[in-house]
Amino acid sequence: MPKIGNIGFVQKSIKENQFKIKKKFGQNFLTDASILKRIVDAAMLDKDTAVIEIGPGLGALTELLCEAAGFVLAYEIDQDLIPILNQNLKEYTNYKIVLEDILKADVLRDIALYFKEYKKIYVVANLPYYITTPILLGLLSKNLPIERYVMMMQLEVADRICGKPSTKDYNALSVWIEYRAKAIKICKVPRSVFVPAPNVDSAVVRLDVYEELPIKALDEELFSKLLRQCFVQRRKTLYNNLSLAYDKDKINKMLEDLGISPSVRAEVLSLDDFVRMSNYLTQN
Ligand code: SAM
Repeated sequence: MPKIGNIGFVQKSIKENQFKIKKKFGQNFLTDASILKRIVDAAMLDKDTAVIEIGPGLGALTELLCEAAGFVLAYEIDQDLIPILNQNLKEYTNYKIVLEDILKADVLRDIALYFKEYKKIYVVANLPYYITTPILLGLLSKNLPIERYVMMMQLEVADRICGKPSTKDYNALSVWIEYRAKAIKICKVPRSVFVPAPNVDSAVVRLDVYEELPIKALDEELFSKLLRQCFVQRRKTLYNNLSLAYDKDKINKMLEDLGISPSVRAEVLSLDDFVRMSNYLTQN
């Protein structure tokens, strides 16, 4: 049984340390042992695996990660949490807490510093929701040697990440993620298991990053920009959205050459279609 991830311990830890919960840092502490176990089980950890945790909070997830993984490197932005974390995790020696904003951290440098002896590197986290997308885009676009991400996030973002063509959730983020990783929604999580309860429900998502991309965009920056442009106004046709940013004749010729109808909406296209358009624009 986890010591930290339960309602009694969380409340006691907050009270005894006179800790002030900071909304601005997205602090919603998990208090449900079965959800914590599902997150850790979904990560499939072993002692050869090093884990990066984002926002350890009071250490509820960190505790289970220390048990299951070889080493845990946790980035926490709130300095008031550092002494509490070290106290709560005093039985463990296989972790390092770094007081740093994950969006500013040099993760590649830290991987070289702390993870020398580990074969696999995963990210496992209950994310601060106010920066879910920047964290994901930041880490995934840097092509870090991270094989798997298991993350709790707001349900709406989880649905977008796992969105399939022709559904309301499918958008530029769905395609951008699908390009890099296989995404699976592990479970939905009600807001009631957090202290304090957030305004939204949550879900745990696992991303298994492709070792080799099944399909490759020649220019990944152009690919990202193209995706955003294709979905810039959901209700408009592909042609209308693209013609706002690219030369109209070029778009007409591209769509004709690739056999894509200009009157479709981006939401019906597949990853393959977007990569073909991107590579066409790179080469023509
Ligand atoms: N892992 C804990 C749990 O499951 O109970 C806490 C999760 S809470 C949703 C998010 C945590 O991320 C908080 O501890 C918060 O202080 C931390 N945090 C917020 N912004 C951060 C940032 N930019 N970099 C690192 N940590 C951050």
